[in-house]
Amino acid sequence: MRLAVLKERAAFETRVAATAETVKKLVALGLTVAVESGAGVLSAVSDAEYQAAGAEIAPDPAAALAGAGIVFAVQAPEPAELALVPAGALLVCIAGAFGNPELVPTLARAGIDCVAMEMLPRITRAQAMDVLSSQANLAGYRAVVESATAFERGFPMMMTAAGTVPPARVFVIGAGVAGLQAIATARRLGAIVSATDVRPAAKDEIKSLGASFVGVEDEETAAQRGAYAKEMSEAFRQKQAALMATTVAKNDIVICTALVMGRKAPVIVTAPMVESMKAGSVVIDLAADAGGNCALTQPGASIVTPNGVRVLGWRNWPGRIPVAASSLYARNLLTFLTTFWDKDAKAPKLPEADDIIKGTLLTRGGAVVHPQFLPPQA
Ligand code: NAD
Repeated sequence: MRLAVLKERAAFETRVAATAETVKKLVALGLTVAVESGAGVLSAVSDAEYQAAGAEIAPDPAAALAGAGIVFAVQAPEPAELALVPAGALLVCIAGAFGNPELVPTLARAGIDCVAMEMLPRITRAQAMDVLSSQANLAGYRAVVESATAFERGFPMMMTAAGTVPPARVFVIGAGVAGLQAIATARRLGAIVSATDVRPAAKDEIKSLGASFVGVEDEETAAQRGAYAKEMSEAFRQKQAALMATTVAKNDIVICTALVMGRKAPVIVTAPMVESMKAGSVVIDLAADAGGNCALTQPGASIVTPNGVRVLGWRNWPGRIPVAASSLYARNLLTFLTTFWDKDAKAPKLPEADDIIKGTLLTRGGAVVHPQFLPPQA
């Protein structure tokens, strides 16, 4: 069976879905691997390295996809490439189907079976293939490093002969995978860190990393169960806004990571809150791809407000650390495929009843199969 690895074409995308290391293992499974020329260039994997690992280099998407039974990608391919995917092929990628309503019906019509890796259930067995975790962890790290560069003072307290530099105060909004890594990284750099979240479980995690917890705790947060936060009520948002107003003003750096699966990100940092920050402060918005947690975020841009606060709303934060992000993403996909690999048939086998398959498979055999994307009943 042939497995194609495409060059990513989406704006701000720098990652690739296979590395030389994973190609070697895919070839060992009995696959013929075709990598589109230049696919790894932004992640520091050359065509020659893919070739040395056993891949064929295809000059364009048509050549890579011809006869492919499996396609590995980071994001869902653009329509022009999708049209080249053979019917019956298995596409494994971060599909982003909630933000692209056309995608699932198009996949079904084309007879492409699609696994949306971002919909993986957050269960222990799925951890090694959890693309959201592997990418968010790196994004959280990168956010702090970029905030430290944008912040024109120091992170740690420095006592020098010329006087003392005070430590930076960092406030992290959302303590999921990215937020917890941001807390840990900011602490390592010597900042005084606090953080908030709406899930009760996050409070202990925040404290265990040496940060203080700042947050509204009420019946609504107590009722937050499961891996993902639910959208909060207007009453909660008002209570949270009052607390955020005093907290944001006291901090030098605010790192926003709050997401609600399948929805627009909640706006938590308002324009007046940014106005209350000292000149030279920094707001980093990891939620920019989902609209942003800061009202002033311009997705894809870095702006400075009239009161001198930098608001960094880069899109695709994991893509800003592409070598590590591709390496982990490629391993996540390899683990997925080997978990569902039929050694005798030398082909993937996706059992309908498996929780991972139930959670991620959007389409199969020309039909939409995922309950969240089924067409409305006539
Ligand atoms: P996420 O990216 O969906 O959201 C980031 C954080 O923002 C979350 O902690 C969320 O609670 C928070 N948030 C949402 N709305 C908010 C608001 N209005 N105000 C403040 N904070 C808000 O989350 P994630 O990083 O994907 O993690 C989701 C959960 O999955 C976490 O509980 C994490 O520990 C868990 N997880 C479990 C496993 C596993 O295998 N068991 C693996 C990875 C993650």
